[in-house]
Amino acid sequence: MGPLHEVTVTFPRRKDWFAVLIGIALAGVPMAAFNLWIDWFIDRQGREEAGELAQRSLALAGKRAGVVLNTLADLARRGIDSCDPAHVEAMRQVNFLTTPIKEVSVVDPDGNTLCTDLGIPLGFRQQVSTHPFTAEGDVVIEVLRLGDRREPMIRLRRAGVGNAPAALIPADLLLPLAAMPTERSSATALAITTRDGSALAEGGAPRPSAQDAGDRLVATVQSPRYNLAATVSLPRAQVLAAHGDLRAVGVVTSGVVALGIIALALILPARRRGDPVDEIERAFRAGEFVPYFQPMIDITSGRLRGAEVLIRRRKPDGTVALPGTFIPLLESSGLIIDVTRALMRRVRDEVGAAYARRPKLKIGFNLAAAHFADEAIVRDVREAFEDSPIRLDQVVLEVTERQPLESLTETRRVIAALQDLGVSIAIDDVGSGHSGLSYILKLGVDMIKIDKMFIDAIGTDRNSATIIETLVELARNLHMEVIAEGVESFEQVVFLRDRGVRAAQGYVFAPPLPGSSFLQLIEAIDPAPDAGRAAVDRTSTAAA
Ligand code: C2E
Ligand code: CA
Ligand code: CA
Repeated sequence: MGPLHEVTVTFPRRKDWFAVLIGIALAGVPMAAFNLWIDWFIDRQGREEAGELAQRSLALAGKRAGVVLNTLADLARRGIDSCDPAHVEAMRQVNFLTTPIKEVSVVDPDGNTLCTDLGIPLGFRQQVSTHPFTAEGDVVIEVLRLGDRREPMIRLRRAGVGNAPAALIPADLLLPLAAMPTERSSATALAITTRDGSALAEGGAPRPSAQDAGDRLVATVQSPRYNLAATVSLPRAQVLAAHGDLRAVGVVTSGVVALGIIALALILPARRRGDPVDEIERAFRAGEFVPYFQPMIDITSGRLRGAEVLIRRRKPDGTVALPGTFIPLLESSGLIIDVTRALMRRVRDEVGAAYARRPKLKIGFNLAAAHFADEAIVRDVREAFEDSPIRLDQVVLEVTERQPLESLTETRRVIAALQDLGVSIAIDDVGSGHSGLSYILKLGVDMIKIDKMFIDAIGTDRNSATIIETLVELARNLHMEVIAEGVESFEQVVFLRDRGVRAAQGYVFAPPLPGSSFLQLIEAIDPAPDAGRAAVDRTSTAAA
């Protein structure tokens, strides 16, 4: 009625927030996955880069060694293997013509330099290591230290043939740092070694220590022709920096994915409201379930006896849905308990004042089978109506015979507890169910409502008359009241009154009415006795 009922505010339910939290948590997963992927990608990139660099370095080192090997082969072919002045002269020419070579010499099988193209050996020389160089084993590669020179020298020498020519080259020549991108060469480490890892030449950054090896990406390539291998290592940080753009793309992408998932988490609960149970729960929270009131008439006096509350769903678009369209869902979802509780409170608030002034008026509520599973309904009824303008003895609760009750014992206990509160219990739809009269008798109720089916048959079916007469007789003996429902014609009213039925409801009197119409009807056919008296009381107090 008031604005309170018309403004519908739906806050996200706890379930929705839960979904949002899960969404945010899930959004972290692709973010983490993307970062892992980036790490993996950068590692792979770095290793590939290092591998390429090693490959290129090895190729260049091999090429330079190859030039020297050709020269040595040429000298050997020409029989140059002694310190004979003609041989020395030939060696001098070769040295002059072959750029990488610093010195050409004749060396004995033990590695001692007999003479050089310059005539005498270049001072003290220490042989650090010797390794076979070619697959055929006709050339060895040696690391030498020459007197005062810091940098080691590399000597390639024909082997296994007595005295033989040898060529000295700076170790650096095997380190084609030109092969490396210059801006990175400072941090890139390159080592040329034999295939089993003995050092021949090192360049770039100092060889990484074992402890920071984890932060570097390393690749080693071995030469198939010579006893050479190249190892390149790059700092991870350097590769990362080079792919900074990728990182940025990653952050942006995972951010977008995260936002997308959060949006989905917000939207999905909303879409899930397409689910009928969620939808009806939302309708309940939005206050769409409202009471309608069907007047019940005392057909012996024509007075208003009260009303039965019949639930309606008033949708935001203004349409009103009948209980047949939603009661089954409310019952199967268990929501019927909450909805009934809310309905009782709403009825109390809407018509309580009118009922307070007419203590004989009854108000009936329909209960479902679920209400008799435990005693929650007893508490709900007490909390709704004790200390309320509607007294507990004005309340009638209708138990339908249509639905089978779970347990007769439990139902009887709940009914007894309700009757202890002062409320009356009616059996609804009597004659329509399968329970039979004996069953109804066992429940110990206060009223029976004869099903519309028998009322419809009045005047056409003789059995119907018999059944109604039997029920009235039975009710009289058990001190139960009889109410006829679905009465549509005046003939039916007369028939029922003649058979001793005292109360009836049906379209002949009024359909179920919205609260405001029902209140108007009450005032019209039963002007509040107390209202007048209260006015008089007020005047008298004012006069006094
Ligand atoms: P019911 O308790 O037997 O209610 C009587 C039904 O007959 C109501 O239908 C009422 O509108 C209709 N009716 C009343 N007089 C006449 C008449 O003269 N002619 C005809 N043809 N129909 C008449 P409604 O309101 O559609 O309710 C249908 C059923 O839904 C009710 O049957 C009751 O079982 C259930 N229901 C209604 N409100 C509630 C509720 O709050 N809780 C529960 N658990 N069930 C409810
Ligand atoms: Ca009913
Ligand atoms: Ca009924």
